[in-house]
Amino acid sequence: EFGVIADLIRLHAQEAPARPALADPDLRLDYGALDALMDRVAAALQRDGLRAGDAIAVCATSGTRYAALFLGALRAGIAVAPLAPSATPASLARMTEDAQARLLFLDATTAQLFGPPAEGTIPRVALDGSAAGSGFEAWLTPAGTRPQAVEPQASWPFNIIYSSGTTGEPKGIVQGHGMRWAHVRRGATYAYGPETVTLLSTPLYSNTTLVVFFPTLAYGGCVLLMPKFDAAAYLALAERHRVTHTMLVPVQYQRLMAHPDFDRHDLSSFRFKFSTSAPFGAALKADVLKRWPGGLVEFYGMTEGGGTCILDAHLHPDKLHTVGRPAEGSDIRLIDEAGRELPRGEAGEVVGHSAGMMVGYHGQPEKTREAEWFDATGKRFIRTGDVGRFDEDGFLILFDRKKDMIISGGFNIYPSDLEAVLRGHAAVAEAAVVGVPSEQWGETPVAFVVRRAGDDTPAEALLQWANAQVGKTQRLARLHLIEELPRSAIGKVLKRELRERDAA
Ligand code: ATP
Ligand code: MG
Repeated sequence: EFGVIADLIRLHAQEAPARPALADPDLRLDYGALDALMDRVAAALQRDGLRAGDAIAVCATSGTRYAALFLGALRAGIAVAPLAPSATPASLARMTEDAQARLLFLDATTAQLFGPPAEGTIPRVALDGSAAGSGFEAWLTPAGTRPQAVEPQASWPFNIIYSSGTTGEPKGIVQGHGMRWAHVRRGATYAYGPETVTLLSTPLYSNTTLVVFFPTLAYGGCVLLMPKFDAAAYLALAERHRVTHTMLVPVQYQRLMAHPDFDRHDLSSFRFKFSTSAPFGAALKADVLKRWPGGLVEFYGMTEGGGTCILDAHLHPDKLHTVGRPAEGSDIRLIDEAGRELPRGEAGEVVGHSAGMMVGYHGQPEKTREAEWFDATGKRFIRTGDVGRFDEDGFLILFDRKKDMIISGGFNIYPSDLEAVLRGHAAVAEAAVVGVPSEQWGETPVAFVVRRAGDDTPAEALLQWANAQVGKTQRLARLHLIEELPRSAIGKVLKRELRERDAA
């Protein structure tokens, strides 16, 4: 499995060097040029003394050079730790150190996050030719150079990806080559091939993006990278380039479907649209299926790789409230508080096993052990921290993250239930419910609502309306109107920020 993706790219380069491989607004590479650039990256890393199994860190806006760097490192057996430019400077410094990166690749914007290089810190390379370090072009080996071949070893890490940090400090997840290969193999189901044009507007540091990025190239298709998502620009690009595949997070689907020009665009070229990373409302999925040609596929999983569920929404219009069934090779179980496996139909914490599971959290054996669960036969699973239940047909219904569940007066309250109630009001565009400390109940639910544009229903009216719909134990203590829900760069609602906001 090691290096196969890099080898496949070489094969495409030999067969069809002029076929487009990668493009951003500034730079396009055909397969011949991509393959040659990957060689120069791999050779430059080797020249700098890096060996297979070492790591580099990259913190930059998505783009063609970033992608080529990623792939070139792969060819040399060097792991990439892609860091989120949205992270705080302190967190970035911690992640770079944690990954034991030997080189740091930045662009003009992210260079500011790292500050001026101090004595003894790791060498930097500026991906965009800015003054952030030695320039990329100068750093590369001369055109035409070839790297030394590396002897494949299955244990080399492919990536160190820092988890989204939705619930706390990001953890360095060491992914092996097996996980990537599983995604590529799955690609056969989704019609990837040389005709594929994949539009990606989520960042390259996220697994969300990579699950579509690598398969597209492995099958000889073309990846278009949009450095920053914008609904109007996305629609224009998709139509102009006859896009066939895409990955979008639910909030992006929501923005696109709400765009006044959506129905005026010709999107008939689409074969498959993917989604993952956050709850995708059934009504929104139905709207996408109705108005956007091609299949809609939702993945449920985690960067740790502990199993995946897949919902082919276009094939199961009656299952849109679920995240689908376990993917081939994935084993998903539910456990209770005491770590006992639950019978089918009962709700509990989701644990998952797959061939491409993480090796562990980088340098954190303690955290790794906490995340593991073993069944009676000793099979290893990863705990997701998510609560769910299988329906009678084996489709997984997901509730909330365990950390977000509210225990009020001894009752379990699922924020997702209350959010669904609130979304049923005509004035509500988006809703999020969090538990906050309460002297009387232990915890009590509080709602945050974004109203539809132009609506001026007062908070008090919404609160009364919602509380009339729910049982006594579920009643909301407060409802705040808010302009926009705080979200991570990958579109996840940051509930810890909402809790802080309620306390303020
Ligand atoms: P951290 O672990 O640092 O708090 P994170 O869990 O958000 O961050 P990721 O690995 O990016 O990091 O996300 C995995 C989580 O995203 C899952 O555990 C689940 O909560 C959520 N998720 C993924 N796919 C879906 C989906 N299809 N529907 C709902 N939630 C999803
Ligand atoms: Mg997680």
